[in-house]
Amino acid sequence: MEVPLLDLQAQYATIRDEIRPVVDQVLESQRFILGPEVEAFEREVAHYCGTNYAIGVSSGTDALLIALMAAKIGNDDEVITTPYTFFATAGSISRIGAAPVFVDIDPKTYNINPALIEEKITAKTRAIIPVHLYGQCAEMTPILELAEKYHLIVIEDAAQAIGAEYGGIPDGKSYRAGNMGTCGCFSFFPSKNLGGFGDGGMVTTNDEAFAKRIKDLRTHGGKDKYRNYLIGMNGRLDALQAAILRVKLRHLDAWSQARRVHAQYYNEAFRLLEIVQIPYTEPGNVHIYNQYILRLPQRDALQTYLNEHHIGNAIYYPIPLHLQECYTHLGYAVGDFPESEKAAQETIALPVYPELSQEQQDYVIETIRKFYQS
Ligand SMILES: *Cc1c(COP(=O)(O)O)cnc(C)c1O
Repeated sequence: MEVPLLDLQAQYATIRDEIRPVVDQVLESQRFILGPEVEAFEREVAHYCGTNYAIGVSSGTDALLIALMAAKIGNDDEVITTPYTFFATAGSISRIGAAPVFVDIDPKTYNINPALIEEKITAKTRAIIPVHLYGQCAEMTPILELAEKYHLIVIEDAAQAIGAEYGGIPDGKSYRAGNMGTCGCFSFFPSKNLGGFGDGGMVTTNDEAFAKRIKDLRTHGGKDKYRNYLIGMNGRLDALQAAILRVKLRHLDAWSQARRVHAQYYNEAFRLLEIVQIPYTEPGNVHIYNQYILRLPQRDALQTYLNEHHIGNAIYYPIPLHLQECYTHLGYAVGDFPESEKAAQETIALPVYPELSQEQQDYVIETIRKFYQS
């Protein structure tokens, strides 16, 4: 049997008949930049996330970049984030001229550990970027409290977490990713839970003035085409992507539910293998399982074994960002963030995509069981 890590062809087969006509409509209209499809998708994402505004941008990376620009963060500023994330989180901070300041993760959730943030806040700190890693929201309440105390911006990196809910806000309500910080940044990279047919992204916010700046920054910072009050960029979402993503958004809750059912099925099986740490979901949170992550012994040998048995897998992330070559100038060393470094060596992602069959899941479970019993 073969089990890929993700099967986008299987997903496309289920929505082909809905996608083709909307693509055709955009082709017939010959309106490819912004326009009604993008505006409609922005309204739908804002409604989905519970925010007042959503602005379509060219990628998740550009969402982070434009959010940092809109917050007027730049040279000599510091931005606190996790070293255990996709490179773009820290890369965006560096690209606008600021310095990423890393804080280690909570080993249970793999998200930034809020208890370690305050000691890293200096007079230069301007923002915190918590990442909702793997589809579970970071612990936002203490982060928002620190932000208020020190007047910091909070940019949620929600690239892996559209639809994830956080239940820890003291008002007892549940908040969706992207609706808690100053803004939320989303990615529609094809392998994300809501993936386009190319690059795409979105910034959500409840702040009207901030929304306006984001909107202007994505078209070069112009009041109109030839009068620039900000130095922006070309950071727009394509009409074609918006039309496709509007179709896919209608399926997102069902897909997320299917991922949760698969995760539950794995959890029940792997709970019996005592050496394996299954994903931990904080009570009150709704996880969307952009990735299903196990922490286990002999990770590299298991990976070879899975590869030999044609089971898709991945390591997110093999090198924490403080140890990346491009960040040697920041002066971090091995041992600085022990939990991130351990997670990088001990965890592996398994297939959890919505179209995964029970036979495929049983094969994954059986193969892992065999590996540890031999
Ligand atoms: C995917 C991802 C991004 C970047 O999104 P792109 O659309 O690929 O630019 C940023 N942060 C995290 C955590 C991601 O997973």
